[in-house]
Amino acid sequence: MKKMLVVGSINMDIVNKVEKHPLPGETVAGSGVSYIPGGKGANQAVAAAKAGGAVTMIGAVGSDVFAKELKESLKKYGVNTDYVITKNISSGLAFITLDSQGENTIILSGGANTELTKEDLAPYLNRLENYESLLLQNELHTNTNEWLIKEAEKRGVSIFWNPAPAYKVPKELLAKIDTLIVNETETEIITGLRIQDKETAEKAAKLLIEDGVRNVLITLGTNGSYFYGTNGETVYTDAYHVDAIDTTAAGDTFIGAYAQATMMNMSAKEALQFASAAAAISVTRFGAQQSSPTKEEIEAFLI
Ligand code: ADP
Repeated sequence: MKKMLVVGSINMDIVNKVEKHPLPGETVAGSGVSYIPGGKGANQAVAAAKAGGAVTMIGAVGSDVFAKELKESLKKYGVNTDYVITKNISSGLAFITLDSQGENTIILSGGANTELTKEDLAPYLNRLENYESLLLQNELHTNTNEWLIKEAEKRGVSIFWNPAPAYKVPKELLAKIDTLIVNETETEIITGLRIQDKETAEKAAKLLIEDGVRNVLITLGTNGSYFYGTNGETVYTDAYHVDAIDTTAAGDTFIGAYAQATMMNMSAKEALQFASAAAAISVTRFGAQQSSPTKEEIEAFLI
């Protein structure tokens, strides 16, 4: 089986429910706390592994009470964690407050994730060639990510990149990417174009292809997803209609499943349908990693 390497963030999401968000200086009572293993890197690694992938994750956890659970959650879903590094600071923590209207506020404390340096990763470079693809996000230090993209490209590893949170990515970096996967906001930050519909998505995708990206995939929430390939192939897929109860990690599930679908040699159209089904199933369930479906569940959904 083709192997995938994910290098990215591993966070504990600490979710606090409140009736109403506190104002500065105000204290409000919470009605319950949940600890949910997350981080875009870890969520995407789990989604790909559950979707049938042979996935290895490199990332960093801290030396705190969360580290063990964060690694165990990855392992439980079949991700190889042999190369997860432990740093002598806190793990990545996302302090999420959710009010009764479903509005959230998030304070992200990068912790160990942002301390992962190229010196930590250099010993693994000669192993990159063992992997067919590398899946990256943007929750590590930008310098680490950009260096890794250059090293992976030199070694002929195909790169899937979800640059989230987004920034104005240098063009020379875009030219090294096989598949760029971005939502509407990320597309706007990178291209400067506001995405309102299929037409604007196509315009933005063309700009990115001109900058050298081989394949562009723009996700449009409940409006589906749009693919544009170097050879001019375009595919648009609707999102599936489901009763959503929790959209946490819908994007991560989509991305992990899409990357794995292409590893299983699906066409762009089949991969988009596979990923859309995975994301649709995930929004009908609570949680992040636990909500992404298995390959069998995705296949049953698509019948
Ligand atoms: P992000 O969370 O990164 O902003 P999107 O919201 O674009 O990502 O969602 C990624 C994909 O997940 C969409 O293209 C769609 O296929 C699927 N999806 C997202 N929300 C829903 C939903 N409520 N119902 C069904 N599918 C959804």
